[in-house]
Amino acid sequence: KAGNMQLPSTSRSYIDGRWGDTTPLATKKKLQSWYQLENGDWELVNVLSTSADETVISIPEGKVSRVKGESLLPANPDILDGVDDLMQLSYLNEPSVLYNLQYRYDRDMIYTKAGPVLVAINPFKKVALYGNNFIQAYKDKEIDSPHVYAITDTAMREMIRDEVNQSIIISGESGAGKTETAKIAMQYLAALGGGSGIENEILKTNPILEAFGNAKTSRNNNSSRFGKLIEIQFSETGKISGARIQTCEMIIVLSAFSFKNYYLKRVVQCAKGERSYHSFYQLCAGAPRSLKEKLNLQNADDYEYLRQTNISIDGVDDAEDFRIVMEALDVVHISKENQDNVFAMIAAVLWLGNISFEMIDSENHVKPVEGESLSTVSKLIGCSVEELSLALSTRKMRVGTDTIVQNLTLSQAIETRDALAKSIYACLFDWLVEQINKSLSVGKRRSGRTISILDIYGFESFDRNSFEQFCINYANERLQQHFNRHLFKLEQEEYIQDGIDWAKVDFEDNQDCLNLFEKKPLGLLSLLDEESTFPNGTDLTFAEKLKRHLRSNSCFKGNRGKAFTVSHYAGKVTYDTTSFLEKNRDLLHLDSIQLLSSCSCQLPKIFAASMLNQSEKQVTGPLHKAGGAESQKLSVAMKFKGQLFQLMQRLESTTPHFIRCIKPNNCQSPGKYEQGLVLQQLRCCGVLEVVRISRSGFPTRMTHQKFARRYGFLLLDEVAAQDSLSVSVAILHQFNILPEMYQVGYTKLFFRTGQIGVLEDTRNRTL
Ligand code: ADP
Ligand code: MG
Repeated sequence: KAGNMQLPSTSRSYIDGRWGDTTPLATKKKLQSWYQLENGDWELVNVLSTSADETVISIPEGKVSRVKGESLLPANPDILDGVDDLMQLSYLNEPSVLYNLQYRYDRDMIYTKAGPVLVAINPFKKVALYGNNFIQAYKDKEIDSPHVYAITDTAMREMIRDEVNQSIIISGESGAGKTETAKIAMQYLAALGGGSGIENEILKTNPILEAFGNAKTSRNNNSSRFGKLIEIQFSETGKISGARIQTCEMIIVLSAFSFKNYYLKRVVQCAKGERSYHSFYQLCAGAPRSLKEKLNLQNADDYEYLRQTNISIDGVDDAEDFRIVMEALDVVHISKENQDNVFAMIAAVLWLGNISFEMIDSENHVKPVEGESLSTVSKLIGCSVEELSLALSTRKMRVGTDTIVQNLTLSQAIETRDALAKSIYACLFDWLVEQINKSLSVGKRRSGRTISILDIYGFESFDRNSFEQFCINYANERLQQHFNRHLFKLEQEEYIQDGIDWAKVDFEDNQDCLNLFEKKPLGLLSLLDEESTFPNGTDLTFAEKLKRHLRSNSCFKGNRGKAFTVSHYAGKVTYDTTSFLEKNRDLLHLDSIQLLSSCSCQLPKIFAASMLNQSEKQVTGPLHKAGGAESQKLSVAMKFKGQLFQLMQRLESTTPHFIRCIKPNNCQSPGKYEQGLVLQQLRCCGVLEVVRISRSGFPTRMTHQKFARRYGFLLLDEVAAQDSLSVSVAILHQFNILPEMYQVGYTKLFFRTGQIGVLEDTRNRTL
């Protein structure tokens, strides 16, 4: 099977969809076990007796039950409660993993290792784990409990020691704490590599990008709608010398779509929980009087684009945040003049949304209503009212060698207006990132090494999944492959280093699913693009096309109507193709681009140039040949894939460090740990995969010395040789540990999961 990799030979055990322990319970002298309740949660119970076909347990409240042996999973001995690293558990079944994380979480130990991966559970409150004292302690290695600081420190040391670029890859669901974690890592780097002053500039990019790229959603008050890779550059002496930001922002484009939809269809989906990008509200609330007058700014609820949803967020002061953003813009050297230009673009987008249309004939053709909105937009972008009016109500068409002017209908005009607003905002974001990058690399040649921090949206599976989830999950499929290959390599290295047999078995890879997306011409992405360029393509014809061509792929299943299902590494997701084509096409009429390029203001001109540049790179699409007046920019999916590939390329050459953020509840409240929710995320972000990979090998490892010291006293007979290895081997014999259950390495003993449990129990009873 192509793309498969090898792991040490093993008998993998998969019970009931759970990675359980295969050792029959009856053979264990364990007293405590996990019992699954009806709601799916696991509870710790005492085992009173076991026989061939039933087990008698007592549940904490004192109730006694008879259950089937299979419904129980072994629990770890108490001494393993709350271990730092899940790999130290004797039993690596799901309830044991969940319990260990919860045990720590309840004690504000929000970080836990799962082998090479750091798991971070969002505390939703201030925890006393950060600040200079902690940074210093981790730097001096006075503390070694798992922490973002510790993993960042490792990255820093490995960068210097191996002279290899490093990356810290942070993933998780929306609201799980990725952006906070990225900031914590950046703080550590700034503290260690600081001195040049540039670290302050780097930290200040956060409030700027958050203002322009974050919005409130029902899941997170400050949700980043873009993926971000920030590469921090170090000089040879280990000091920060510059930085570069790369974004993956199909999200920007798509959320703009959603506010368009609110407006067009007057449907307010989830209106209570959401609002648009922070920058709009911040400007309205915080602009000083003079700026307000210059931009003719109103209150946020005077703007159509904003009034459909909530205006304010509890506990957030938009005016104050605006001051913080202005200060940050100063720090990254964006001139006052350019800052005003930026604010003018935000105001232009808002005013565009207020432009309404009136009928001019009986055929539903319209023109913009002349008034404050139209005149303000024209002033803000620097064109005449007539030019703007024309661009919003007509379209030039080439017919043979002639150009004819066609009037737009109401819905076409609204679409044109919103596409213009969306493009201005998306270009503004790109332009800002570019300015920030210039500022962060000013006068510095790249010579030393780098640490990149990736803060990217995690796998998403909702009741209804659309184009956004399709893109996000595709990106995660790629990241997962990167993750798998890295873990596999680490495992392999450790076995080889200690001279362990490397018998080969299949190791599942997600290459098939990636092929489903990427194969040309018959893959999901290619077929989507093809259908998007067909003038008669609809969501239904797209869905039918997929079913026709992809039936044979094992990761694909066509559903009734417009839906299809993909088997992702993290589970099956059913996508509804409604709006797929519309969201994928990123058309801006040439008339709109021409309008921008003829404007007297600087930013619209720059935006127009970059849009034209993009469409030139894409000249061969069928639409272009048809001579339509639309500029065929890269489709959203293609642009996304391009950015993703660039991102992956940068990551490929680095040593990765993984942080998985987990959201313990959906209500952003501290102290609430929902097992089911956590479990599903552990599965999606590959933590259970790490556990599974190690279970399939020899996850318990102990040096000969430690093993001999810990269990040597249990020996019944005198051992001739007193060296650790001989003592260890004698213990193994005495306890009848089967040869296939362990391996003796040069420095360590390697055990299959659960093997140490018996020794530990005997030791406890003896002590
Ligand atoms: P994501 O980027 O994954 O969507 P965020 O990083 O924005 O999520 O975190 C969401 C919220 O959770 C934050 O606004 C903050 O209130 C809380 N949070 C996350 N991590 C921490 C932490 N380490 N300590 C305290 N609160 C946190
Ligand atoms: Mg975020």
